[in-house]
Amino acid sequence: MELFKSLDLNKEHKEDVKIENIEKVKCLIIGSGPAGYTAAIYAARSNLKPVLYTGLQMGGQLMTTTDVENYPGYPDGVTGPGMMEDFKKQAERFGADIRFGIATDADFSGKTHKVTIDDSKTIEADAVIIATGATAKYLGLEAESRYAGMGVSACATCDGFFYKGKDVAVVGGGDTAAEEATYLAGLCRKVYLIVRRDVLRASKAMQQKVMNTSNIEILWKHQAIDLFGENGVEGVTLVKEKGTPREEIVKLQIDGFFLAIGHTPNSEVFKRFINTDPTGYIITIPGTSKTNIPGVFAAGDVQDPVYRQAVTAAGSGCTAAIDAERYLSESHTEIPSK
Ligand code: FAD
Ligand code: NAP
Repeated sequence: MELFKSLDLNKEHKEDVKIENIEKVKCLIIGSGPAGYTAAIYAARSNLKPVLYTGLQMGGQLMTTTDVENYPGYPDGVTGPGMMEDFKKQAERFGADIRFGIATDADFSGKTHKVTIDDSKTIEADAVIIATGATAKYLGLEAESRYAGMGVSACATCDGFFYKGKDVAVVGGGDTAAEEATYLAGLCRKVYLIVRRDVLRASKAMQQKVMNTSNIEILWKHQAIDLFGENGVEGVTLVKEKGTPREEIVKLQIDGFFLAIGHTPNSEVFKRFINTDPTGYIITIPGTSKTNIPGVFAAGDVQDPVYRQAVTAAGSGCTAAIDAERYLSESHTEIPSK
């Protein structure tokens, strides 16, 4: 959660901080990616008068990409930022109140759910939809920012198509890396899987798939340390068997560099009350957006360790708004005046 460091989201309970500024709302949505905006569209159309806080990354992860070609309804593709602007406009058209702000604390101990915004204001909501997404982990190389959108990606399903017939590298040894490498192998000429140890963490079934794919080459005990290229990635510099007498520098010609070393779900703020899996993904009741706290729902990547696509996030945002609407009508809460 590099982006949010300055707000210190990880700090423990902030009951010592007295916040006088309180606002009551019926439905609070946290996050402005496909899940949050879709929840806002549905909640607004159900007259829940949703208030949505965007977080630092208004528009979510797709603001960091160029072309989105797999979202239905855009036959010629669309830019990530362009698509998210459309989502926002559609939510606003139905009256969603979209505000810039970050959820910095939450208290779900009572019937009314309290969420602190920017450490300075409390929103009391009858229903809360958490749609804070997940952040792909990067190695932390300066070259990753230098070549952002120019050959570096953390999503093979999203960007793999641009490397059809080319050579790429995938970093990681888990299920995601194995899955991404196998997916890319179907498109690319050659896929190098860069693994820092001499074993894969991926499940046996995924390992088998990788081993049985002829155009995947595993580079055991290799670590990426830099990228090179004139107008985009043309290669990666690796160190092999780092720290041993056999240590050596290897340069590899590639066109695309894919990170698959895990994601961090943005659930830290809610963990005191909301059940998560060991990685931090919010656990929802299967087939619903319901969390362990009645009236608190989760949608999108923050509760999805498997699919992590814009369309699945949008679909679950819709589910969350419908679940929230049903919860509110069953609990007969009054619509607060705004
Ligand atoms: P996100 O888009 O991650 O949005 C999370 C939102 O929560 C952000 O607005 C953020 O500001 C906000 N937030 C986080 N913490 C807080 C907080 N404490 N308080 C308030 N707000 C908070 N998928 C596709 O289907 N097709 C593609 O082509 C594609 N390309 C991609 C390219 C890249 C480079 C990346 C990284 C991902 C791509 N994806 C693609 C995946 C897709 O972006 C995600 O699956 C999708 O954005 C998830 O939506 P979301 O709403 O769950 O979360
Ligand atoms: P993961 O299991 O945590 O694996 C991350 C991989 O990246 C590990 O191999 C790790 O190496 C490597 N790695 C981490 N930091 C690195 C660094 N700085 N440099 C080089 N390599 C680094 O993450 P994941 O693969 O994203 O999977 C997350 C969860 O989702 C898992 O539970 C997984 O089973 C699940 N998942 C399931 C499926 C499926 O069932 N189809 C698909 C995708 C994901 P080490 O092994 O050396 O630690």
